[in-house]
Amino acid sequence: MREYDVAVIGAGVTGSAIARQLSRWKMKVALIDGAEDVAMGASRANSAIVHAGYDCPPGSLEAELNVKGNALYTRWCAELDVPLQRTGTLVAAFDEEEAENVRALYERGLKNGVPEMKILSGEEARALEPMLAENCVCALLAGTGGITCPYEMTIACAENARKNGVDWLLGRKVSAIRGTEAGFVVTAGYEDIIARRVVNAAGLFSDDVARMIGDDSFTVRPRKGEYLLMDRSAKAPKYVIFQTPSRLGKGILVSPTVDGNSFVGPTAVDQTDKTDTSVSQEGIDQLRRMAKKSAPEMDFRNVITSFAGLRAQPSTGDFIIRPSEADGRMIHAAGICSPGLTSAPAVAELVEKLLMESGLTLTEDPAYDPHRSHIRRFRDMTREQKEAAIAENPLYARVICRCETITEAEIVEAVSRGARTLDGVKRRTRAGMGRCQGGFCSPRVMEIISRETGIPMEKLTKFGAGSYLVAEKTRSGEV
Ligand SMILES: Cc1cc2nc3c(=O)[nH]c(=O)nc-3n(C[C@H](O)[C@H](O)[C@H](O)COP(=O)(O)OP(=O)(O)OC[C@H]3O[C@@H](n4cnc5c(N)ncnc54)[C@H](O)[C@@H]3O)c2cc1C
Repeated sequence: MREYDVAVIGAGVTGSAIARQLSRWKMKVALIDGAEDVAMGASRANSAIVHAGYDCPPGSLEAELNVKGNALYTRWCAELDVPLQRTGTLVAAFDEEEAENVRALYERGLKNGVPEMKILSGEEARALEPMLAENCVCALLAGTGGITCPYEMTIACAENARKNGVDWLLGRKVSAIRGTEAGFVVTAGYEDIIARRVVNAAGLFSDDVARMIGDDSFTVRPRKGEYLLMDRSAKAPKYVIFQTPSRLGKGILVSPTVDGNSFVGPTAVDQTDKTDTSVSQEGIDQLRRMAKKSAPEMDFRNVITSFAGLRAQPSTGDFIIRPSEADGRMIHAAGICSPGLTSAPAVAELVEKLLMESGLTLTEDPAYDPHRSHIRRFRDMTREQKEAAIAENPLYARVICRCETITEAEIVEAVSRGARTLDGVKRRTRAGMGRCQGGFCSPRVMEIISRETGIPMEKLTKFGAGSYLVAEKTRSGEV
């Protein structure tokens, strides 16, 4: 059996950030996920906002880690070559009752220690953001709020962790955990591993993982959020525009993305199924109606796709980051609902501290390198850089995804970094994320993955778990 000092269960942004943070110490760490890639849970489909921190209840762990995480994003994104745009966020009010909510958020933000906040008049807000509806009466501007790319952040943390010695154990759902004198025996897919400590970062399923060691101190319930994504040619807001929050969440927002698209979302609907990420007509209708309230110019003829993510709502009403009551050698980073993307770097630091307090002796690894680079983007190169890249590697001359100008060289690099599915390549390169949504490039991307990995075409999947792309070979041998 392989032995680890720490097994991190869950390779979403929480687990991947923790794995990265631990990789600076001399110890053996495993990053385990049941899915075939990192960033397959909530970290794949969310609003991508780096929240300022005025929304969380004062005194909560969420509030503390949101504000800390927001500040840490500058360094983490610089080291990991992840996009971060401090666009600023606006919470807009459209009547006197909502204006009261905006003032309450401002007060809350002060209590949470959020810097750079200001209440703007409707006129001032519209001068900053011309897409804002004319009947806006006032807005809360938070200068530290911004946008990032959630799956890129997750992939970057996991890649950097691996570069510093962390083992990725993907496609290995943890089905049992047994406490022993030395730690735990963790059944991860087909293999048992030994771990002195376990970090439970299993998102929506973190209550199931806790129960594996007899800890039923909390439950986690899914809350769906649906989205509509607009093409890059559509008029996009400069700021993230929120409406005033309700009991269920932060309200429908209209936002630019770091790639030049825009989106509206998310809805907030409680459900029981932890796997259902379907999009409903009802949800789409609600998004269209609500988005028009903040930004009447949003043009829904430019929608290129819809998607949904599931928030992990904890029964405790706050992030659960503490040693398990059943066995203190398991540290929970559980029920990380929104703003978990923003908080991830701060969650990682807190879990590191809890592991130290649990008796792990940590020695710094002098070889630790905090840096990681994104795959070089052909479309962002100057003409001279393009010519040099093609001279060095002719695969840069073959554009596979025409909507996003993604070359074969970038796809080969994505595969060499661990992508094994169509979506894995898409998230690492943007091949298939343009207006045609992969209609043209998917078969060619599949051929490249198959050629590079030796996986037969008929075994390739869109995102793992039986999502096969072709049915079978025809008599002529084509697939
Ligand atoms: C609609 C929506 C909008 C949001 N917007 C924002 C936002 O704008 N800003 C923000 O800061 N936050 C936002 N969030 C919250 C943020 O997305 C989450 O807090 C964050 O992604 C949680 O990351 P995680 O790693 O804890 O969970 P996940 O990303 O869900 O990862 C958990 C992982 O655990 C794995 N796993 C589960 N069980 C097992 C098992 N038994 N064995 C092995 N692996 C297992 C899963 O496969 C999964 O990959 C939003 C969330 C949603 C859903």
